[in-house]
Amino acid sequence: MTQDQRSCARSAFRQASESLECSDEMCSLLASDQREVTVEIPLVLEDGSIRVFKGYRVQHNNARGPFKGGVRFHPDIDLAHLKELSFIMTWKTALANIPFGGAKGGIDVAPGELSRRELEVLTKRYIEKLAPVLGPDVDIPAPDMGTGEREMAWMLEACSQRNGFQPAAVTGKPISLGGTIGRTEATGKGVAWITRRAVESGKGSMEGKKVAIQGFGNVGAHAALHLCAMGADVVAVSDHSNAIYHHDGLPVRKIHDAVHGQDDKRPLGEVDGEFETLSADEMLALDDIDILIPAAIEDTIHEGNAGSIQAQLVVEGANMPVTPAAEALLLEAGKTIVPDILANCGGVVVSCFEWAQNHQRFAWTAERVDREFRAVLDQAWDSTREAATGHQLTLREAAYRVAVNRVRHAMEMRGF
Ligand code: NAD
Repeated sequence: MTQDQRSCARSAFRQASESLECSDEMCSLLASDQREVTVEIPLVLEDGSIRVFKGYRVQHNNARGPFKGGVRFHPDIDLAHLKELSFIMTWKTALANIPFGGAKGGIDVAPGELSRRELEVLTKRYIEKLAPVLGPDVDIPAPDMGTGEREMAWMLEACSQRNGFQPAAVTGKPISLGGTIGRTEATGKGVAWITRRAVESGKGSMEGKKVAIQGFGNVGAHAALHLCAMGADVVAVSDHSNAIYHHDGLPVRKIHDAVHGQDDKRPLGEVDGEFETLSADEMLALDDIDILIPAAIEDTIHEGNAGSIQAQLVVEGANMPVTPAAEALLLEAGKTIVPDILANCGGVVVSCFEWAQNHQRFAWTAERVDREFRAVLDQAWDSTREAATGHQLTLREAAYRVAVNRVRHAMEMRGF
């Protein structure tokens, strides 16, 4: 399989770089990683045995600013997967027009299989091994699947042991260590905001729109809460176990508190309430849905289920949830797809605000975070929409055209 067939991102990139008339050398520079690091991390477990984990950091492009991207703890990750995620980070930060490039990293670990202490040591060792290629103006890790505030605090501590206290070295930290107001909800809130812009650009209104959300983790749950606040009815949500549905709308706050409560975390299938339980594919095929938001993991909308989707608008809350074959089927059926680099850029935007506050040694108010957030997301939406209309492109092609042009321009200005 060629890289271009591997993801919608690669083909949108290829289309953009050709239509912008980038030279072959420039295309190849823009497509390839600047650095790929693999490290072995031996760990003595509490039972005395030794396990060796693989850690990775892929740094795709830093023409517009330091590399930026999450660190994923998951047993299935490998270099090829992280290369794709790093690639799309470059275009996401460029589309949002924030001063970062793109990176992604991770460890091939199932975090739930380690004790808290083992995980802390593993996280700190990972940062120690990568220290030569990290730093507040070099490459700034953030949370991703399997990591959160706790891991970011450990990463900051590992960086601080080497360079002194530098809160801008990682984002997604607890507020007490220089984290920002609004980071936890930022990606889901951004998904909701961009969904609203997409609906309103078609002269519609969010009031009464029926939404289904695949994945009820950080992104899906916060998107659901914000969509409800905008007047939409979230009628179905799913997680890895199954989906729940009520045609008049689900009590999202209650479900959120049950699933994400401090002491009482439950899969959706165990939440009490008056809803129907569906399989994941049954949820996708519901015929009373206006908007579908895949917000779980990669490749969940594929050739086998895309044809059954009835929603007219598909908003990619997750990274790369729609496969190329599924994208072709959806477009053929006249659906609109809002691409991941636009829909879920809210997280890295607020990470940028956190980094800026750390450099300023000053904390912004919630009002300021919210104001700047809307301005950045509106700019990303407006420039994508303008390119789509002006050049007869899909939203994905348009978003890549804007992003590739910005990165190409930065590289040319800097020179070689
Ligand atoms: P999370 O781990 O908090 O939640 C993932 C959710 O998806 C869980 O509810 C899980 O049960 C569910 N899930 C897993 N497999 C599923 C499947 N096959 N079908 C239905 N549900 C399934 O993760 P998250 O932070 O919400 O991230 C979700 C996606 O968004 C990932 O692709 C991530 O890379 C992307 N993303 C996250 C952020 C962020 O700030 N958290 C930012 C940008 C992109």
